[in-house]
Amino acid sequence: MTKKILIVEDEEKLSSNLADKLRAEGYNVSTARDGESGWEHAQRETYDLFVLDIMLPGLDGLSLCRMIRNDNKTAEVPIIMLTARSTEVDKIVGLESGADDYIVKPFGLGEFLARVRVQMRRPSPARRQIQDELTAGDLRLDLTGRRVFKGTDEVKLSNKEFDLLTELMRNKNAVLSRDLILTKVWGYDYFVDKRTVDVHIRWLREKIEDNPSNPRLISTVRGVGYRFED
Ligand code: CA
Repeated sequence: MTKKILIVEDEEKLSSNLADKLRAEGYNVSTARDGESGWEHAQRETYDLFVLDIMLPGLDGLSLCRMIRNDNKTAEVPIIMLTARSTEVDKIVGLESGADDYIVKPFGLGEFLARVRVQMRRPSPARRQIQDELTAGDLRLDLTGRRVFKGTDEVKLSNKEFDLLTELMRNKNAVLSRDLILTKVWGYDYFVDKRTVDVHIRWLREKIEDNPSNPRLISTVRGVGYRFED
């Protein structure tokens, strides 16, 4: 199956260089020149990767990135951001934007291709859906039955606690910001207070940690969010 990539970049020359390079590697590439048409492409077609420039006419790349993340159809598709300014990197990292990787311009085509390959190696959304179990140490999540076991004991979790733990365990060793957790677990809802995340983390720790006051599984990354340790 040929993998499909969408490049949203208004610099014509760069866009066609990237597209040529990817096509030479056997990828099926579409391009868009601005955020709005990028969004239309993303809605119309199914892609395996998005490459988004940040500075775009009209709808900018970061907004487009968030829209892609918040849409069920595209939520799991990897995103690589392109940026011309290292000052923009702050906005991309910490997963605040939902991007999976970023490259600062100017960059070499070889480096670009390497980053694309990394994202393409990740399990596809379809494969991830089939996965029915997540484990860490003696903790086991049955995704189909929505049950959690610690050793042989079942741990009773609320729906939100279960979704939160699933999100954390699916992204082991990655820092998830409160914003990202809110978006993924609670949906795109501005009315949920960020502290909701902290409260649910506390409840989760009480249920799954050996010693909730000295958590080993879910660590706090100060000022950013949480990380599941594996
Ligand atoms: Ca641009």
